[in-house]
Parts: sequence; structure tokens; C-alpha cells
Amino acid sequence: MQLRYQYRVYPTPRQQDMLARSFGCARVVFNDALRARQDAFTAGMKISDTEVQKQVVTEAKKAPERVWLAEVASVVLVQACQDARRAYRNWVDSMSGKRKGRKVGAPRFRSRTDNRQALRLTRNGFSIRRNRKLYVAKVGELKVAWSRDLPSVPSSVTIIKDSAGRYFASFVVEVDQAPLPEVDSEVGIDLGLTTFAVLSDGKVIDSPRFLRRAERTLRKAQQTLSRKEKGSRNRAQARLKVARAHARVADSRRTFAHQQSPAIIRDSQAVFVEDLAVSGLARTRLAKSVHDAGWGMFTRMLEEKAARYGRHFSKVDRWFPSSQLCSACGVVDGPKPLDVREWTCPCGAVHDRDLNAAINILAAGRAERRNACGGTVSPAA
Ligand SMILES: [Zn+2]
Repeated sequence: MQLRYQYRVYPTPRQQDMLARSFGCARVVFNDALRARQDAFTAGMKISDTEVQKQVVTEAKKAPERVWLAEVASVVLVQACQDARRAYRNWVDSMSGKRKGRKVGAPRFRSRTDNRQALRLTRNGFSIRRNRKLYVAKVGELKVAWSRDLPSVPSSVTIIKDSAGRYFASFVVEVDQAPLPEVDSEVGIDLGLTTFAVLSDGKVIDSPRFLRRAERTLRKAQQTLSRKEKGSRNRAQARLKVARAHARVADSRRTFAHQQSPAIIRDSQAVFVEDLAVSGLARTRLAKSVHDAGWGMFTRMLEEKAARYGRHFSKVDRWFPSSQLCSACGVVDGPKPLDVREWTCPCGAVHDRDLNAAINILAAGRAERRNACGGTVSPAA
């Protein structure tokens, strides 16, 4: 299977300048290629992939208003052209139903003000040198912080500049992954408000201090930004601070998810989580957005690792009130204020609010999975 391995890179000022040009050219070619396809479509004409590439790369280089395209590596331009092709294809196939899964929207034109600038290179545009530096065509040898070893020779690399001004190299590598030995246990996970998550086996995952601290810094930076006058220099600085705080929060979330997810995947054959899109937890908007983003990173990683190690993962549509439903007898005992951590059901069962919810999520996940596996699903009648 294909995995991504991402590392921080540190280009010199000259390399940064060259990268900026390459990002710009990749963006222009991507947009030109997209426009060429759209124009052909509007005119009711077919345009071949080679024709698009000839038009937006080969021919464009000769045009006075695009002559600067020749300054950057042509492999970058060809890749940008390919990326546009794929984005367009995915959209068309999604509309026609040829592509399964979630609907893909119309490809978006890229802008110089996008938070993320990127370019992609295949084997002929990069290599890893003996001195452990990453050679990028026309840019030179980039210094890489190798935080872990690459498991195999990468087939492509994406060079990214994020909104905080940091650079990354994201490699695509092929990895042989044997599934983990099967285990009997399955687990349901409830997103907590006081704690990060509670597992149906009783395990509690607390929010780590480093993550809470990063989130607090982000909130403060956002408040400061909102008080700055529009267009002022202070505002530009405050915005950069917000971007940096955002980046730190994202890093902390990733670290935390990397720490917590392996044990869950190792110990459970199936992992069920609530589908946040339908859970109606009473939360303020700010708390909700911060919380949901952390939860999203965590569940994405669980999903990824489950696929990698042969485990089942699914989201449960939480149409039932999981914290009001007694996991012992099935009675719905009515809503409870958030500060009620423990309650006693008329049947005599004493419940921890979050643990009870996690057990209900596990039960619902199992039921949905049985249905999906060919069991009879009773029609609405
Ligand atoms: Zn009960």
C-alpha cells in the first residue's frame, strides 16, 4: 500500500526564491490546464491530455506572457498539468457515478494567496543524495530533518510551504504491510468534553497538557487578531502569529494521535467512533471547532491505521441519544445536563456518562456492521 512520509526541510534563501518561482509556475500551469479543459467542455469539444500539455506547457513557454515558465524545471510543469487532469477527472467521474464514495466538487483554481503552496515531482525530478540531502531539479540540494527512515525508495515527492512559512517534503512510498494477528475484542469510542475520549473497555484518554497549551495560545492569538484594525501592519503580524499557532496545534494533534492510536488498533479487531457530523453535543462554537478538529485528526489516523493493519473501522450515525440510553436495559432516561457525570437508571444500573456512551457506540457499530455484512435490514415498513 502507498503511504506518505513527511519531513521538514530547510531551504536556503536562494532556494526559497527558486521554490517560490516554481510554486508560481506550477500554479499557473495548473490553472491554465483546468481552463483549457473547461473551455473545451463548454465548446462541446474533446481535448486530449497531450493536447492540453502541449498548449499549457510546450507552446506556452514560447509565448511572451508565459516565457518565464522556462526558468523552472519542466517536470514541475508537467506534474502540475497531470494534477489538473486528475482533479478534473475525479470531478467528472464523481458526477457520472463512475467514481464511488463521497462526491468530489469542481476543481478549484489555485491562488497566490492560498495558505498552502505546493509542487509535485516524480522520480526524474528529485533524488536523495549520498549526503542525505534532497535534490530538487533546478532548486538544488535541500537540507532535510529526517525524523524517521524512509521504508523504501519514494515514487514521488510534494514540496509544500505552509501558511506559517515552513517547508515540508512529503514522500509517497510503497509499503508491504502484513495485517496484525486477529483479536476478539472490539471497541467503541466516545468523544469526551472533560476528557479527550473514553473507550468502551473503560480506558480514559486525557487531553495532553502540550495540546491544551497550544490550543490556548491559538485562541489568544485569534482574539488579538480580531482586535487589530484591518489593513494595519499590526494586523499582518498578528495574522502570522495565528498561522504559527495553528501550525503548532496541528503538530501537537498529530503527535498525540500518533501516540494514542497504535494501542487502540493493536488491541481491537473493530473500532467504532461516533460520526461528529450528526452528533448534537451542546457546545459553544469556538469550543466545538477546536474540539472537533482534534477529534477529526484522531479519527482520520485511526481509520488510516485500521486500513493498514487489517482492522475494521467505521463511524456510527449517532441518531440515538447515546448518553441518555441505558447500555444495560435500553431505556432512554431523558436528557441530562453536562455536569451530570454519573446517573442511575431505573433498572438499577449506575452509569458513568461517557463510558455508557462508548458502550452504546460499540453496540450500534456492531449492529450496523452486521447489517452491512448481508444481514437482513428491515425496510421502513
Ligand atoms: Zn437501565
